[in-house]
Amino acid sequence: CGIFAYLNYHVPRTRREILEILLKGLQRLEYRGYDSAGVGIDGGNGKDWESNAKSIQLIKQRGKVKALDEEIHKQQDIDLDVEFDVHVGIAHTRWATHGVPSPVNSHPHRSDKTNEFIVIHNGIITNYKDLRKFLESKGYEFESETDTESIAKLVKYMYDNRESDDINFATLVERVIQQLEGAFALVFKSVHYPGEAVGTRRGSPLLMGVRSDHKLSADHIPVLYRSSGKDKKGCSALPRTDQDTCLFPVDEKAVEYYFASDASAVIEHTNRVIFLEDDDVAAVMEGRLSIHRIKRRAGDYPARAIQTLQ
Ligand code: GLU
Repeated sequence: CGIFAYLNYHVPRTRREILEILLKGLQRLEYRGYDSAGVGIDGGNGKDWESNAKSIQLIKQRGKVKALDEEIHKQQDIDLDVEFDVHVGIAHTRWATHGVPSPVNSHPHRSDKTNEFIVIHNGIITNYKDLRKFLESKGYEFESETDTESIAKLVKYMYDNRESDDINFATLVERVIQQLEGAFALVFKSVHYPGEAVGTRRGSPLLMGVRSDHKLSADHIPVLYRSSGKDKKGCSALPRTDQDTCLFPVDEKAVEYYFASDASAVIEHTNRVIFLEDDDVAAVMEGRLSIHRIKRRAGDYPARAIQTLQ
């Protein structure tokens, strides 16, 4: 029922700080109601953020965010003092629609036992039974009763069946949502794409917050950049049309991004937000945010823009 994700790019944060930000974000969404909560964070405890991102740790709990917090502090293998220069953390409060409230049915859901891809979801996937049947026939093993788990398996299916090794994360997610029916807001994270996150929505709300502490002059404030042809690497690597947008900090580093189902969860960090539209795929890659809309109807194209909340 509530989504909160936090990406720090060249803004060093300890795992303790990251978890605090994630749990506080969830607490701001508590009023929406929920029965379980969970987080997905990088699992490594070394010095190099990129190696730490080669494994993902999931912590999920039935009940309140406070119960999740206690569960996190019980984990022996989590070193809270490890510092990450770059990190993606995703967090969720669940209001069960398919499957009882339980740790295994809580989000994030995963592609497989090694957590290659994880996803958080608000909403309902109406064709999940067909997706599950198809994926089971291909050998993907399910562990929960949720509609959401089909999405986690489907993104791995798209990855396992990729035509080339340099396929980007946003493209995989675009292929996934082309198969989904129903309502969703989703945020994905993967060991194959360290430091990257992809969010998308259709029918359920999702917005992004952007913060850069390099705001000494106007030039250092991230600018909304309407892409056309030649631009920076993190954006040019993504599929685009002249309607797509790309946002990046002018100094090309030190930026933080948030995904949330509600602005109240990000307002304490930043008042610069972008409300995503249906079928937008928003990808953060190398610190840059690129938004691409997968399908559009003539005459029905609300503009996306960075807004300053009062
Ligand atoms: N349909 C999903 C589930 O039951 C997501 C529910 C939600 O929006 O929290 O797990």
